[in-house]
Amino acid sequence: MISHDKLSDLSIWFVTGSQHLYGPEVLDQVYDDAQKIVAGLNASGNIPVRIVAKPVLTTAHAISQTFAEAAASADCAGIITWMHTFSPSQMWLPALQTLAVPMLHLHTQYNAAIPWDTIDMDFMNLNQSAHGGREFGFAATRLDVHRKVVVGHWSEDAVQADIADWCRVALARLDAQQGRIARFGDNMRQVAVTEGNKVSARIVFGYSVEGYGVGDLVAYMDQVADSDVQRVVAEYHDLFDVAAELQSGGDRHESLRYAARQEIALRAFLQDGGFTAFTTTFEDLHGLSQLPGLAPQRLMAEGYGFSGEGDWKTAAFLRASKIMAMGKPGGTSFMEDYTYNFAGRDSTVLGAHMLEICPSIAAGRPRIEIHPLGIGGKDDPVRAVFDGKPGRARNATIVDLGDRFRMIINEVEAVAAPHDMPNLPVARVLWKPMPDLRVAAGAWIHAGGAHHTVYSDQVTLEQFRDFADLHDIEAIVIDEQASVRSVQDALRWNAAYFRLR
Ligand code: MN
Repeated sequence: MISHDKLSDLSIWFVTGSQHLYGPEVLDQVYDDAQKIVAGLNASGNIPVRIVAKPVLTTAHAISQTFAEAAASADCAGIITWMHTFSPSQMWLPALQTLAVPMLHLHTQYNAAIPWDTIDMDFMNLNQSAHGGREFGFAATRLDVHRKVVVGHWSEDAVQADIADWCRVALARLDAQQGRIARFGDNMRQVAVTEGNKVSARIVFGYSVEGYGVGDLVAYMDQVADSDVQRVVAEYHDLFDVAAELQSGGDRHESLRYAARQEIALRAFLQDGGFTAFTTTFEDLHGLSQLPGLAPQRLMAEGYGFSGEGDWKTAAFLRASKIMAMGKPGGTSFMEDYTYNFAGRDSTVLGAHMLEICPSIAAGRPRIEIHPLGIGGKDDPVRAVFDGKPGRARNATIVDLGDRFRMIINEVEAVAAPHDMPNLPVARVLWKPMPDLRVAAGAWIHAGGAHHTVYSDQVTLEQFRDFADLHDIEAIVIDEQASVRSVQDALRWNAAYFRLR
């Protein structure tokens, strides 16, 4: 499992292309410059993973060997390619034909400005990314290779931000390939959109989906030490306001201790199995007296993927999104479109779930409360209650169309609720979908988008699209420019594209 402390083991390889035409001094200079760029990127503090400079590549054999090593390496999440000089791209074809790692083509050059007074043909021959990069780009396009293209001087913040975001996507792919999703119970009975083909998911994304009886979790709960419960309850008091009835000495303190025991047991179960995400369902709680509420909230905040109702696709997608969000300000959560506030162009959606929204999106300090849950027939569950942060964010989902997966992304503007909601006992966020609710929900429904989503103000639209590209799945965007008709057209074109290939 990729966590923040494991990042130091992972790397992105920086591969520089050239050729022998210019002589050994030029190749030495090329390697020198590549190392300086890599050192600059690593020193910038902007890149979430170590970038490693590889020797300059000048032959088809060396290129293929380097790409094969990258694919075989357990710690290489992707390759950045850069053409310092011209590098005839027929020699790149064999490697690109079998490309098995994410690739970013960095279209930059070592110098930013032209040295106007001294520029001569030697300088021109050394610094010809402007056409070397085009030659390389043609080879990748000729082979229809999915890759990211980032253009600009490598020292610019905007360029480094693009590289950093792509690195996070590459890490999310590596994490998904090694991912394991634990499911306690099956999907919610009769629900369609949360279903899907687990074998297809294994083929496309790499993660495995593994079912467990909720009794396996109960067995872990029986092993939890009182001292650990004590420690986690203390953490709750540090991080959250706690309702008086749940505090030590309060009438319902035992319910808080039970929630802590659930959290400790779940974390231990996930760690022991190397799981990266999990699902629960209110329809299968044998041996549990509460539906886990606070526990998924806490584990999501730690970076685990989660979804309710057995929805393993969303759990896995949330985990990938947590990796794509690494080191960025803001939050990322499991979400569900719950209810509408119709008000013309300003119509909004109130998003929430029965209990399980990640505190990373909270506007203030969450408050732990206990309230009845109308379904499931168990004891009242404990949950953290809060309002989501206002600002630009997006909802994204992945559905299984039978012959392929489709990602759907909707840009939203989260807003402060215009009124208190004193009787609503769950975490929630209110947003205005782009371009407005009529278009956004209409287009979303035409696209078959689920009610479960990943909600994030960290993962960018571009990152979601890049994640879709890396897995060769469809991505439908509903943003300010979208109309229902434009999305319907995109759905039809994409259907033709994916079925003709
Ligand atoms: Mn749900």
